[in-house]
Amino acid sequence: MQKRCSCGELVTMKLRTVVYSGKVEIDNVPIFSCPACNRSEVSPEVKPDLTGLIGQLGSQPDKQTFLFNEWNEWADLLVEVYAKDKLPKSHVLEEHMTARINKLLDLFLIAQSLGDEDWMNEIQKRLSQISRRSIHT
Ligand SMILES: [Zn+2]
Repeated sequence: MQKRCSCGELVTMKLRTVVYSGKVEIDNVPIFSCPACNRSEVSPEVKPDLTGLIGQLGSQPDKQTFLFNEWNEWADLLVEVYAKDKLPKSHVLEEHMTARINKLLDLFLIAQSLGDEDWMNEIQKRLSQISRRSIHT
């Protein structure tokens, strides 16, 4: 999970806490931060969900804490993988991702057989979050 910063340094993705409006803490956000030039960038795969979450908070949010991995399947997968290995190889991530996608597809079949449309929609959203990612090696 590395990419090249615009300054030329190779940066590694880490899960970090983002503070919004000085009040709201959002934990476990995948971020690339460069040790050489201090530039930080939210992982592009999760940006739409982070923007969506912040949008819901509005401009005058109360003091609160979120776990971003409860909002984003990709962040959730990273939390799971990073708990075992701080610098996972991309094939390890791929294995976890395949397992997670299979699990979600199983759940989707159950939801479908129950005719539970809300649940089906939720699982579809989680599947789209996880398939939006790209792995940088
Ligand atoms: Zn840099």
